[in-house]
Amino acid sequence: MKCALITGGSRGIGKAISIALAETYYVIVNYKNNEAEAVDTLNKIKNRGGDGDILQFDVTDRRSVDCAIDTWVAKNGDKKISVLVNNAGVREDSLMMWMQENQWKNVIDISLNGFFNTTQKLLMSMLTAKFGRIINIVSISGIKGLSGQTNYSAAKAGIIGATKALAQEVARKGVTVNAIAPGFIRTDMTKDLNEKELAKTIPVQRFGEPEEVAELVAFLASEKSSYITGEVISITGGLY
Ligand code: NAP
Repeated sequence: MKCALITGGSRGIGKAISIALAETYYVIVNYKNNEAEAVDTLNKIKNRGGDGDILQFDVTDRRSVDCAIDTWVAKNGDKKISVLVNNAGVREDSLMMWMQENQWKNVIDISLNGFFNTTQKLLMSMLTAKFGRIINIVSISGIKGLSGQTNYSAAKAGIIGATKALAQEVARKGVTVNAIAPGFIRTDMTKDLNEKELAKTIPVQRFGEPEEVAELVAFLASEKSSYITGEVISITGGLY
């Protein structure tokens, strides 16, 4: 049975992705702290006729990633993780002038090192199976840079570079690697923003919904997307 692992699948965009991918895949919902929300995601999957599991690990902790995935794989010999969505991420905004070292390090660690830890762990089995889908959730900040987000912009731009490089390494083995760059999406991450004011700057005049991002991920996770790799696809309501 083919499975999809979504990091940060407990809330926001990751929750919507988990629910959408459960139409095709057995879904593993990763979370860091919020077990109740991870269970809620799994319940929503099951209520729609899908199936899955929850899996706690911190993407920044390589040993915790290895241990959680090894333990899950040992218990689920009939299942193969064919899709990885690197979605876990945080923002800790500050002007560079005032940014604390831990604000820089945390954001880079979760997005960029998290990508490395999970992707390297699952890559070999995808290459052996000659099928895999790696989808990295980046941001418009990683493309254009956003004031107050040098840490977040650097982390997301780093993943964009890694996406393009890795795509070239693994394409011949049936593994595609793509990035999706959302603009403003209505989740916990953006709830402190002034949506009414910011919406005026977006051509579509509103924030996006997590489900709209999930639809795009579902296509890239499917077998139908096999000729798309190394791409960064924006989903921003026209914002640049
Ligand atoms: P969110 O609502 O704040 O959810 C963040 C998720 O990441 C939660 O499930 C959280 O798990 C998980 N997480 C955080 N740190 C983790 C860690 N160290 N290990 C494992 N999981 C961890 O965020 P979101 O808005 O859905 O964002 C999802 C992704 O989209 C992020 O990469 C973000 O940068 C990107 N993005 C978001 C927007 C936007 O407007 N919302 C725009 C562009 C890009 P717990 O529930 O356990 O805390």
